[in-house]
Amino acid sequence: MMPWEKNIRKVVPYTPGEQPKCTKLIKLNTNENPYPPSPKVAEALKGLDMGSLRRYPDPAASVLVQELAGYYGVSERQVFVGVGSDDVLAMSFLAFFNSGKPILFPDITYSFYNVWAELFRIPYECPPLDGDFQICTEDYLKDCGGIVIPNPNAPTGVEKSLGELEEIIAGNPEVIVIIDEAYIDFGGESALSLLPKYENLLVVQTFSKSRSLAGMRIGYAIGNEKLIGYLNDVKYSFNSYTMDATALAAGVEAVRDDTYFKETLQKIINTRERTKKELRRLGFSFPDSKSNFIFATHSRCPAEKLFHALKQAGIYVRYFSKPRISDYLRISIGTNQEMDELIRFLEHYLGEGL
Ligand code: PMP
Repeated sequence: MMPWEKNIRKVVPYTPGEQPKCTKLIKLNTNENPYPPSPKVAEALKGLDMGSLRRYPDPAASVLVQELAGYYGVSERQVFVGVGSDDVLAMSFLAFFNSGKPILFPDITYSFYNVWAELFRIPYECPPLDGDFQICTEDYLKDCGGIVIPNPNAPTGVEKSLGELEEIIAGNPEVIVIIDEAYIDFGGESALSLLPKYENLLVVQTFSKSRSLAGMRIGYAIGNEKLIGYLNDVKYSFNSYTMDATALAAGVEAVRDDTYFKETLQKIINTRERTKKELRRLGFSFPDSKSNFIFATHSRCPAEKLFHALKQAGIYVRYFSKPRISDYLRISIGTNQEMDELIRFLEHYLGEGL
């Protein structure tokens, strides 16, 4: 170790899913939307005034904030936008979790939470999910520094009922409870309806999945005005211009085209339900998913083996070599055609004497 190395902030970074260069693959490994964003997004980007790019973008991202506030029926002062929900969550960790007491999030969940906790030196505890991958409410009814619950959870796809979430939010009035709703639009019930009742609730959502804009990096948080004010203070202490002009233009049109949004969601939900039946028929089991992925294990074939076989066949899914979930594959929902190809491959592979 070099003498200067002892004072470096060392972190083990989050590892995102692979983004292969080859485009001919069936890519079911990062929960992206298989459909393009609304055609109105393309129009807006084509119509962008290039001359305007010489200027800094609006630091308050006002057009997007206004559009989201209108869509969800909240005040503009209740909306915070960031560079994907990763950015929004990271700022929230920094702004809200400063008590020195451990924050709580499940042992099996989005693996960025512990990375931010480590980065910001926030102590944390991870109550284990039960044997059916359910979050146990009672684990979150204790003295703590804050709570993060993804709903539906990732990578399990399991939804926690709004009633149970409310118990957790109501039971922790002294700390901030973040509900990460990255996948809520695929059939879950949003905690946004609880906002008028709870000042300690922050709901975080993203354009990356349901609005097909992972490449644009847009996320947002909705909470009470005071909470959003604190979040903005942290943002302006970090980088005033987080949202670039193209992201703002694209985001606004994505929210405006609600018909396209709902149609796309319904297609994905239908494909998911069809895929569940097919996977069951092939001997897979999985917790019921309310997201755009299925977390599946096979009775006879180890997940790691399947993962490699699928990859060789050009079908990418996500495998986590971690305790409790190392025999599961997280399979994102693609188009009907992509899922048919996946099923056809599995039928063939599993049928051959495994
Ligand atoms: N939360 C969860 C649970 C996720 O799975 C993801 C996607 N990896 C994110 C947040 C972040 O997504 P984004 O930054 O693209 O909004």
